[in-house]
Amino acid sequence: MVNLIFLPHEVLEEIISLLAPRDIISLTSTCKFFHHMKLSDKVWALSCYRRFQIKLHTKGEFAKKFYCKVLCQYGRFLGLWNRHADCYGGLLHIKYADGKLCAFELQLPKNPYISNPLRPKIVFSIELDEFDKISIKCCINPLQKHPCTLSYGKKALTPRSPASYYLTRECEISVENSNHHDSVDDLEVWLSEQSDYLGELSSSTRTQMIYKYMVLRQMALKTHYSRLVLPKRCCYRVPIQPGLFKGTYSSHGLELILLNYEEDVNKVKAVKISGDPNIPAGQVTFRADLPFCMHLTERQQTSFENIESIQAASSDVEWYELPTPQPFTVPYNCVERYQPVPNYCKARFHGFGQIAQEGFREPSFVEGHWIVFNEDLFGFLWTSLHALSMFHRVQEEFTSST
Ligand SMILES: [Zn+2]
Repeated sequence: MVNLIFLPHEVLEEIISLLAPRDIISLTSTCKFFHHMKLSDKVWALSCYRRFQIKLHTKGEFAKKFYCKVLCQYGRFLGLWNRHADCYGGLLHIKYADGKLCAFELQLPKNPYISNPLRPKIVFSIELDEFDKISIKCCINPLQKHPCTLSYGKKALTPRSPASYYLTRECEISVENSNHHDSVDDLEVWLSEQSDYLGELSSSTRTQMIYKYMVLRQMALKTHYSRLVLPKRCCYRVPIQPGLFKGTYSSHGLELILLNYEEDVNKVKAVKISGDPNIPAGQVTFRADLPFCMHLTERQQTSFENIESIQAASSDVEWYELPTPQPFTVPYNCVERYQPVPNYCKARFHGFGQIAQEGFREPSFVEGHWIVFNEDLFGFLWTSLHALSMFHRVQEEFTSST
């Protein structure tokens, strides 16, 4: 048997890098040989990559310090989180960037550009200060960064909601100093970032947007986030792979949804990641049944009256056995016309979309069609509302580091 200490230095380093950082430290502090071995920064960089898929700077003592102090405590927060902000929700991505852990809120593109990328906005960072102490900073206003705290634990956000695990960020500023966030949160700037068609908005839509601005501004002082796990690639034959999509929701603007399959891929369900006062984040926006697939002629689609006369029925054949591509036409009396909509689709299914009064009162499911155009694009036709929502896949990959 070969004694560990006779192995070449590089091989030993590779082996040691497989250990958890706490174990590396115990090894080097309890064993004379390993204490004198002078581990290179490579060990920490390797171990860090194995555990967190993060490529650290390997210069000087940085890798070791950052790994042992920052990553060991906060590395478990890397990844995606649902933001809980009243009905509006949102998406947070924590990753390694520029020698720090950075948290970005991923804002939707301007309405109606669903194929544009999400817009990351830094919210907070976790780094080592000049004394190697952990420093957590709120970066909502980059000109007025200030300390904030992070906590993780089980809590109920409202008296009626069940307790669950949340990551909570809270700014360490007094209420009188809450204007610390202001210069970037100017209402007009915020509004112009939401849509290119502000001039055409009705006064009620504008009021709704101002209300949203006020709520988000208030929430920015203290925000709760819950873990979001994205579905894996589906290995069954599916019309479109599951994942995050950006969709058009009429006067509510663009919203983010998570599409996933259920019941042995017989059903598809879309849940809101960002929501609105009618259907809040966390609720189902639509669902469809894959056995209820259909193939419509152009003539059958000319008006909503024609479409509504088609009885929903389970098909005798699988969706992929129907002729493809099949014609697609936006009914002439569709109130919302996102452009450009393809003239052909890959598959079409009967489904149900959820509607409700403001405040998620009297929610109900109304009939609709789920229409898949290609791997990145689908639509939901709200037959009773005479509206079409279009959805484009979020293309970003949410890796641990840049
Ligand atoms: Zn702050």
